[in-house]
Amino acid sequence: MADGTWWSERVRLRLPSPVVELDDDRLARHGVRLLLKRDDLIHPDLPGNKWRKLKYNLMAARERDLRTLVTFGGAYSNHIRAVAAAGAHFGFATVGVIRGEQHLPLNPSLAYAVERGMRLTYLDRAGYRDKDNPELLARLRSEFGEHYLLPEGGSNELAVRGCAELPAEITEPFDVICVPVGTGGTLAGVAAGLAPGRSAIGFSVLRGGQFLDAEVERLQTRAGGSVTDNWRIEYNFHFGGYAKRRPELDTFVVDFADRHGLTLDPVYPAKMMYGIFALVAAGGFAPGTTIVAVLTG
Ligand SMILES: *Cc1c(COP(=O)(O)O)cnc(C)c1O
Repeated sequence: MADGTWWSERVRLRLPSPVVELDDDRLARHGVRLLLKRDDLIHPDLPGNKWRKLKYNLMAARERDLRTLVTFGGAYSNHIRAVAAAGAHFGFATVGVIRGEQHLPLNPSLAYAVERGMRLTYLDRAGYRDKDNPELLARLRSEFGEHYLLPEGGSNELAVRGCAELPAEITEPFDVICVPVGTGGTLAGVAAGLAPGRSAIGFSVLRGGQFLDAEVERLQTRAGGSVTDNWRIEYNFHFGGYAKRRPELDTFVVDFADRHGLTLDPVYPAKMMYGIFALVAAGGFAPGTTIVAVLTG
């Protein structure tokens, strides 16, 4: 474990993830280069930021000899899927505390989690909003035993630390790095890991996500003690809210797949990419700017 590679016996991870340039006349016209950081290729079960966010948490759980991971998420959460997969690969029991009521048959995300051994339990929306309350945490301990608790979306200081390792993997010079934002952990880490002179832009996929600024600040403070002033969040590209779509987003995704042979996940990366192209079209980047877009999934 001390060598930091205990996981390499269990899974083959594609790290550093590849960086490829996107050739697109809509960007070239504005003198902008776009590089894709293909975190989606890290591992089929642990894609993108989910591996980065889990890595140090899994190490911490092992160090504390905790064999069960408990976490929280919505019924379609990629984090729930990733924790279930990590449990199966690395030998942890897993429990998913799911917001809302049980619906049978299980949706594909939850069915995937259960197939990988995750036990599910449900919390009504009011209970879920109050998921830090000590009574709930005590109940989880009595029901599932001593465990390692991962917050919703997996965003804690160890997740920030994992994501902070991303920028150093990019050997090409760049100016700006873009990530989609759900809970803000990835943005907090990526921004913290940037060299001086570079900046990060997060694209919120939530409607009314303005609380995310404070959340990223909170995560950076907990992880590193200080807030970096090299990032901002764009709030105009949520297309109605989490997992919501609009015809213009769907059209963009179809057109992008035609041009580049790459189908963007509509929940996160598609909204970021739409936002990047919109900002470029509006002259938001000086000619000569190189942007990195992180394909988180
Ligand atoms: C979870 C997830 C995100 C959001 O990351 P946060 O750290 O919660 O902001 C972005 N993209 C994909 C594909 C994800 O699965």
